[in-house]
Amino acid sequence: MSPMSSLNRRALLTGLGASAGVFAIGSPAVIGQAKPRVVVIGGGAGGGTAARYIAKDSAGALNVTLVEPSRQFVTCFHSNLVVGGYKQMADISHSYEKMAAANGITMAHDMAARIDRDRKVVMLAGGQALPYDRLVVSPGIDLRYDSVPGWGREHETAMPHAWKAGPQTTLLVNRLNAVPNGGVIVMIAPPNPYRCPPGPYERVSMFAHVLKKAGKDRCKIFIIDPKENFSKQALFQEGWDRHYPGMVEWLGPKIHEGVKSVDPKTGTVVTGFETYKDAALVNVIPAQFAGEIVRSAGLANASGYCPIDPASMRSTIDANIFIVGDASIAGDMPKSAFSANSQAKVAAMTVRGELTGSRVFPARYTNTCWSLINDDDAIKVGGQFEPRPDKITSTVPFVSQLRESADLRKQTQAENIGWYAGIVADIFT
Ligand SMILES: Cc1cc2nc3c(=O)[nH]c(=O)nc-3n(C[C@H](O)[C@H](O)[C@H](O)COP(=O)(O)OP(=O)(O)OC[C@H]3O[C@@H](n4cnc5c(N)ncnc54)[C@H](O)[C@@H]3O)c2cc1C
Repeated sequence: MSPMSSLNRRALLTGLGASAGVFAIGSPAVIGQAKPRVVVIGGGAGGGTAARYIAKDSAGALNVTLVEPSRQFVTCFHSNLVVGGYKQMADISHSYEKMAAANGITMAHDMAARIDRDRKVVMLAGGQALPYDRLVVSPGIDLRYDSVPGWGREHETAMPHAWKAGPQTTLLVNRLNAVPNGGVIVMIAPPNPYRCPPGPYERVSMFAHVLKKAGKDRCKIFIIDPKENFSKQALFQEGWDRHYPGMVEWLGPKIHEGVKSVDPKTGTVVTGFETYKDAALVNVIPAQFAGEIVRSAGLANASGYCPIDPASMRSTIDANIFIVGDASIAGDMPKSAFSANSQAKVAAMTVRGELTGSRVFPARYTNTCWSLINDDDAIKVGGQFEPRPDKITSTVPFVSQLRESADLRKQTQAENIGWYAGIVADIFT
């Protein structure tokens, strides 16, 4: 028996075996085909990791194509450090060339326009058709432009979101630097679930850091939050009181009674409690849902996100498709790059197991979200997670404590910097 036919026979057996009892998958398309085909949509934290691990660990046995319109990926993670002046845009921009060449990944620099689930084909915006045996999708989030009254796509220059990194990040930095002493910043924070739960509050810390460093300590930052509470709240508020006394004011929904309207022309934010006029900067972070490609393919539920099998990240709606990262409903795991990277490795292992017969181990997930409050003062929250029948469940949580020593906080920031170097190497090399 030739090595290829033995591979295909094993793939057929394991593919069916792994899925039996969960879904009735039709005959795998691997029979009589040179190599099983894996398509990955989205070259961010989830998709980049999945493509690299599937290609690297299958050592040429699988045909892996990564669909991503950008030639350079700008990470949202650590974009708040660009806002704070600790990093430059170049530090968070990464090209795909090295990763593609080193791991034998075919890049398709285009948008996936449609997933034809019946034919198992991804249609690209440019017209190309990519057939797949397994598809991994990690499109991240889309912004809900209709979620803040008076604000929409056409207002993202006047009132930036910077919740997708790139030109929006640069715009936010420029607008922040132009805030005069005594100027007012209003952040409209997003409702759950959204990408990076501590992200808005780390960003506020970076706003305050930049203003204070520039001697603009008469500025005020108001956070209009639709949530009753937020990630690492006591730690952030302790940090704001210590480093930026009187500068940051957080308002929960019971106080502000909702955002009634915004006027991007005049920098006005009207809430049930107060009207903020002539704000020097309004940072609108709207509500979010899974990227359009998975919603239009019928892979999301009424929540706007995609249900998955906690043990594999396989879509509960289509057994040939895996959804990782922000677009998935990942139980107790927050929407973070760390989570997306961890979930992608589980999906990659399962895909390889089904298509090449390699061993599939029980899924284990991890996450840590670090946040910088000021120079050498970082906090973290995280844990380990396990698949349970109903959801991915937190098993060993941890969080920084109030009044930690300066040394520990400095060490936490060193971990944060080390994590970033590690994760980008884990994706882009
Ligand atoms: C300000 C901010 C700070 C953050 N800080 C941290 C942090 O410190 N730590 C952390 O772990 N996480 C952080 N995050 C969260 C993190 O960025 C996301 O959770 C993570 O990037 C999610 O990965 P993903 O693969 O789901 O989506 P993304 O990384 O956004 O990747 C999605 C990719 O899919 C592509 N795509 C979308 N649709 C299509 C399509 N139809 N066809 C082809 N390609 C498509 C997009 O171009 C994009 O490249 C932060 C986020 C923000 C906004």
